[in-house]
Amino acid sequence: MSYVEKNTYFGRIGASYRYHYMEKSLPEPERSKFKELPFTADLFLKDNQSPEAQNNIRRALEAKSLHARIVVDVCSDARSAAEPLFDTMGPQVASLNSVAGSAPIERTAYVLNHEGVGQIFVLSHFDSQALTPDESPEGCGGRTVKKHLSHGSVSEEERDLPIMKYVDSNVISSDVFLQPWERAKLIAKYAPDKHILVGTVDHRTGLIIPMGYVWAGGKGAYTSVPLHDIRDTKLMYPDGYPQSLKLEEIPEIFRPALIDNQNKVKRKLKEDPTFREKMGTQRPCFVVVRDSIIGARLRYPNLMGGMNKAFSIFAPYHKERNINGGVYITRTQEDLETVLSQLQYPIIEGLKAKPGEAFDQTSVVVFESNLFYLAKELADAAMDEEWFKAWYRQKKDGKPRDIFVGVVRSGRTTAMYNYEELLKQ
Ligand SMILES: [Zn+2]
Repeated sequence: MSYVEKNTYFGRIGASYRYHYMEKSLPEPERSKFKELPFTADLFLKDNQSPEAQNNIRRALEAKSLHARIVVDVCSDARSAAEPLFDTMGPQVASLNSVAGSAPIERTAYVLNHEGVGQIFVLSHFDSQALTPDESPEGCGGRTVKKHLSHGSVSEEERDLPIMKYVDSNVISSDVFLQPWERAKLIAKYAPDKHILVGTVDHRTGLIIPMGYVWAGGKGAYTSVPLHDIRDTKLMYPDGYPQSLKLEEIPEIFRPALIDNQNKVKRKLKEDPTFREKMGTQRPCFVVVRDSIIGARLRYPNLMGGMNKAFSIFAPYHKERNINGGVYITRTQEDLETVLSQLQYPIIEGLKAKPGEAFDQTSVVVFESNLFYLAKELADAAMDEEWFKAWYRQKKDGKPRDIFVGVVRSGRTTAMYNYEELLKQ
């Protein structure tokens, strides 16, 4: 069965192309100009100053001032990357990435509840080419780990890994819908005035399947199957594919972004017939740890634009005012640990990856922050970990490995350093 036939949502929504957008769709950035070069700190600065990046940043800041930001809370997986899910609305996205979309919500409340935010998307992701009727679709490593943990099929030794402990205590459910749904209900407590769409991304195509929403101000919630049936996988996934809401069941406010997403999927699949195949395995070149809510894909479009290019982890910080009214920014030990345990996921996978396997292409880790010392602190903390050092030492065996430390303010990279050179200074 072809994708379009299988995905009824796509068919149903055909009539909705009457929605027009002021901006014409932008072409995918050309990546080849950087292809042959080794990764240097200058390359990031150059990309951040490119017309594409400057345009993205301008539009991101504009969206904030127009209260039109779309916060997307989604997995760190390079294939569910939030910004490239959209055709022309990508720069409006403020992305919060964490393993299986699970990071502590209270720590990102300042992003979710910001007045510049117009709507929130809470998404899981799955693989549409590995469906089993009556079962929740798989495809997210974090959800799979959760499933194994709850079935007790994880060895004692593995259970002690920080990433396992992280998943155990932060991922709510291994179910493709229940994970974002339960999370959306929690988000509604921290951001009561925001409309929240709940869905999942088919990471083979980038299509968002809307499955429910939570209306602002506690004015109700709605799901694609009756609320009391959302734990019945036979009703939720009769042919293995998640039950989608019809467009007419979805509040107006979410529709432009959903249609923009469909436009992107259509264009992508037409332009690149091998796209689905390329999304089978997660093989990003970059891992980015950042506190800028303007995602790295918008800020480095030539290096990281598009799907399956970067695994991203959002690292929240504490902002406090001192008695003189100055702003004081710190990162707590707990936040640091939350980030490091998630970083373990791509690094451990990369460490053991054979050619063609997940994270075999991962060669660059970028630690960024608003302030230099916070970015350096992240890199130092990672370098204190044996598993991270082991991955980095593979450089001696001829594998490309580079670590960068950058300062990013309002989307603009003001400084970038190669970590090794930084230590020599
Ligand atoms: Zn995932």
